[in-house]
Order: sequence, then structure tokens, then C-alpha cells
Amino acid sequence: MQSAALGAAALGAIGTAAAQTQSSVEKAEHDRSGTNPIGPDNPPLHDENRDSVVPPITDHGNVQSFKYPFAFSHKRTQQGGWARQVTADDLPVATEIAAVNMRLTPGGARELHWHKAAEWSLMLYGNARVTCLDQNGKPFVDDIKEGDLWLFPVGYPHSIQGLEPDGCEFLLAFDDGHFSEYDTVLLSDFVEHIPRDILAKNFGVQQSDLAVLPKQPLYIFQAPVPQTSLDEARRQAAGNLGLSPETFTFHMSGMVPTHKNKFGEVRIVDSRNFKVNNAVAMAHVTVHPGGMRELHWHQNADEWQYYISGNARMTVFAAEQRARTLDFQKGDVGYIKQTFPHYIENTGSEDLVYIELFKDNFFQDVSLNSWITHLPPALVRAHLNISAATLQAIPHSEMITVGYSR
Ligand code: MN
Ligand code: MN
Repeated sequence: MQSAALGAAALGAIGTAAAQTQSSVEKAEHDRSGTNPIGPDNPPLHDENRDSVVPPITDHGNVQSFKYPFAFSHKRTQQGGWARQVTADDLPVATEIAAVNMRLTPGGARELHWHKAAEWSLMLYGNARVTCLDQNGKPFVDDIKEGDLWLFPVGYPHSIQGLEPDGCEFLLAFDDGHFSEYDTVLLSDFVEHIPRDILAKNFGVQQSDLAVLPKQPLYIFQAPVPQTSLDEARRQAAGNLGLSPETFTFHMSGMVPTHKNKFGEVRIVDSRNFKVNNAVAMAHVTVHPGGMRELHWHQNADEWQYYISGNARMTVFAAEQRARTLDFQKGDVGYIKQTFPHYIENTGSEDLVYIELFKDNFFQDVSLNSWITHLPPALVRAHLNISAATLQAIPHSEMITVGYSR
């Protein structure tokens, strides 16, 4: 009986809210109803989240939160660098992708390891040397810099080490929202938990030779800065096996944009141009001031976002009269469920740079503009009541980035 009574009360509240017209809500937000007598709860967050404090009147209903700042994450710092992560534990809507932000000093090493999710990465700053072993047991070694990517498939053992002059900082994304970077198979942890006589027999050495093995997992640790050139490191790794014919890195730093116009540009990297990467597709988007990423949605996967620089706002329409608008800054994670339409507007005076990631082997989207201009015009006009001239003025192809002429 109690739950029935609560249910009736809740229905009553919803009924009252639904009765509020958009214009009365807009008026309320700006008259005494919307005042905040004790002041903003948290002034910096208040200022950064204007579209939550005073939502656009088109926002309505309950939409699962789709923003999480890396600044909220615990930073796990060790000699050699640090890591912090955003998983579905932090951002429950993000079931398809989890991510890590990591810093390594010069020589700082992310220990040799592997795991049960595919690992995609974007180098945000500096230089690193990475290694990976392919499916035929052949080694891969490469040096990468800001703007470059890598992809390590599930179970492939790999490592990352910061180089001179100042190590590196990068973003990792895993194709499982529940994956934790702190739940990986570490070389040090592995050998520590194998009986010493077995380990000695496996290596064909004396147990006494293994007394020096680490007693604790390393995870991130300070190692000597590599003194070998990339060519020399490759020769050392190759031995008489030879190097892998696969390429686990993608030098996006040298890539021309896939699309470019006066409002911005985009670089799309997926299995079509980064062959080994059948796990995570990416669009790296730059939107100039005044521009926006046009209204669109994705047929094939949820979208995971990371904001690299600038300021943005995004509305996600979740169907059935539900919509929410949130503001984003550098270091924030955003997320959009598969098929939910959205735009990303540059709200600042600098370039907005962010990435869109998808758990799939290719990038795919639907442009609202392209769709409604490739239908019988009478059908579209019957839906939207717009004039023939208005329909004709809408861009007739996907532009990715749009805006008024500046
Ligand atoms: Mn890894
Ligand atoms: Mn999108």
C-alpha cells in the first residue's frame, strides 16, 4: 500500500511538471522562482556548468548523466609517473569504453603487461617508445609523439616508456566500459606468483639467479632513459626472429584532415586506414570559434568523448521528450548512447578540440542536414512546415563542422 501511495504521489508530481509550458518555465528561470538566495553551491562548477544552472528551455525530462571530468578521478602516482581513470563505475552510462589518462617521466615505464580489453591510445604530449608482440610472436617497437595513436589487441603483451626531453602524457581507451587499468596482468606480479623452482626450470637458470626479482608489482616505475636509437632498439628486439610485419601505431601527427572547411576539420582513423585497429574507431575534431559539429547521430555504437582543449556545450536528445544540455572543458569525458542525436558547439574564443571514439572497426554517422535534403521535399515540408526556400537553404551534404559565415 505504501509503495502504491508513493507511486500516486510521484505521478502527481510528474503531472504537475508536464503541465508547465515551455514559456512558463523560461519565465520562472528568470524571475523570483529561479533565484538562489544562498548563492552558487560551488562557484567554479557553477560558472563551468551554465547549461545546468539555467538549462535551455528545450531540455526536459530525466537523462542519464553523460559528463565526468578526469579532475574528479583519483590520481595514482608512483615513481615514474601517474595514472587516473574514468570507467562505468564513475560514469554509469559509459558501458562501451573506459579510459585512462597517464603521465610517464623520461625513462618512466608502464610495466610490461597485457589484458582482456583492446587498448587504443592518443599521445597528448611528449614522446614515448612502445613495444608490442604480434600474434606470431614477432616484436614491434616504435617511437611516437603528440598526435600519434596506437592499438594493442586483447592479450598482446606491450609496454610504454617516456623519452627525453620530458616524457609524455597520453590517453588510453579500452573497448569495455567496466575495464580497470588496475586489473592487468603485470610481468612482475606474474613471476612473483610462480614457484621459484618452476620459474628456474622454465628459464633454465639457477633459483639463486632469481633472488633479485621484484617483490611487489611495479605497474609504473622509474627506469633508465633508453640510450638506444629506435633502429638499434628494433634490431635488439628482432634478434633472429625478425620484426612484426604489423604496424600497431598510427602517426596521425602527419595526417591531412579527412574533411576540412572554414568552421573546422576532422581526422577519421579506423580500420580502413589503421589496419590493425579493428576495435576502436576515432574522429579527431577541431571546431573553430563560432562553429559547431553539426546535428548527427551514430548508427553503430555509443560515442565516448574526450575534450582536449577549448569550451563546448552539447545537447543529447534521448527520445520521448527527454533532452539534456551539458558544458564541457579540457579534460572532461562525454558520452552519447548509440542513435541519440547531438551537436557539439564551440562556446569559447579558442579552437575546440575533442575526440569521438566508438567501439567498432569503422566510423559511421548520419547527418540530419544530408538526410532531410535527400528526401522528396514535400514529405519533409509536411513534417516541419518549413518553406521550400528554407529547405533549399539547408546544406545538402554532410559538412561535419557548420556555422554562420563569419
Ligand atoms: Mn595496456
Ligand atoms: Mn557524434
